[in-house]
Amino acid sequence: MPVIIDGRAVSAAVRNEIKQDAAEIAAKWRAPSLAVIIVGEDPASQVYVRNKHKACAECGITSFQYELPADTAQKELLSLIAKLNYDPDVDGILCQLPLPAHLDEQAVIDAIRPDKDVDAFHPENTGRIMTGDYAFLPCTPAGIMELLRRYEIGVEGKRVVIIGRSNIVGKPMALLSINARATVTVCNKATPDLPSVTRQADILIAAVGKPGVVTADMVREGAVVIDVGVNRLPDGTLCGDVDYAAVAPKASYITPVPGGVGPMTITMLLKNTVAAARNHMKKGDL
Ligand code: NAP
Repeated sequence: MPVIIDGRAVSAAVRNEIKQDAAEIAAKWRAPSLAVIIVGEDPASQVYVRNKHKACAECGITSFQYELPADTAQKELLSLIAKLNYDPDVDGILCQLPLPAHLDEQAVIDAIRPDKDVDAFHPENTGRIMTGDYAFLPCTPAGIMELLRRYEIGVEGKRVVIIGRSNIVGKPMALLSINARATVTVCNKATPDLPSVTRQADILIAAVGKPGVVTADMVREGAVVIDVGVNRLPDGTLCGDVDYAAVAPKASYITPVPGGVGPMTITMLLKNTVAAARNHMKKGDL
């Protein structure tokens, strides 16, 4: 049977380190801080935002919340971001996605000052991942790399296959794997004969958003299987993209859903916020 990668335990260990870092910064300067913007009342977003505030509080990070109505105009949202960009009490700015359909998400991402962009979605930060010279990494791929590191699963020289090419998971995950000297393939809906590609993976990463899309015949014996998917079944239970019961016996390591990649995402957001604060403290130029 595989080693089950415990995202909750790794997350708790990393949060302990973040807490110490935050305390050290607070002792020298002020507590690291995160401004969270939420537009509208999407229930899933409300839960994510609540969890982010709770995690901040547990780690000694000050968090501010800006709740805007669903019909907020683009101009208003951009003017709030402009204000936060120059607020010396704010280290990180996060605008909870998705935004209501009338708002231009990319324009909002582009408006956040790169040194406060703790989600690492701004083109300057995504570009920096390519060169390997970055201040922040996008939270989910960074969380996956942290899990691999803590379980001493080497990436160098491995074949990494990623299913999904989103800007927030698939593409940055590919870049991080390339930077770590893996041989990388990124798949999508148009990939011909997907199982023949995924069976080549030493490390298979599924970021699709479809329950059970990764079946046992798609996984090589002994592969490391990382399941990023978060899907809600009609009975309300959460599951990933991997048919866990069938795939687990073939894997050497596997992440469960929930309790695998998920807990790492907020943890890496906290890590980015503390990194932003450290940078601002050093520069003293907010
Ligand atoms: P996304 O933007 O929803 O895109 C899905 C990707 O999967 C696309 O590239 C799509 O291909 C590909 N795809 C869909 N069906 C496929 C199939 N049958 N075969 C091959 N490829 C297929 O992706 P995302 O935002 O990265 O989200 C993916 C999942 O991860 C969702 O369940 C999301 O909730 C979850 N997620 C979890 C976390 C976490 O913290 N655990 C964080 C972020 C996302 P095309 O490009 O051809 O359309």
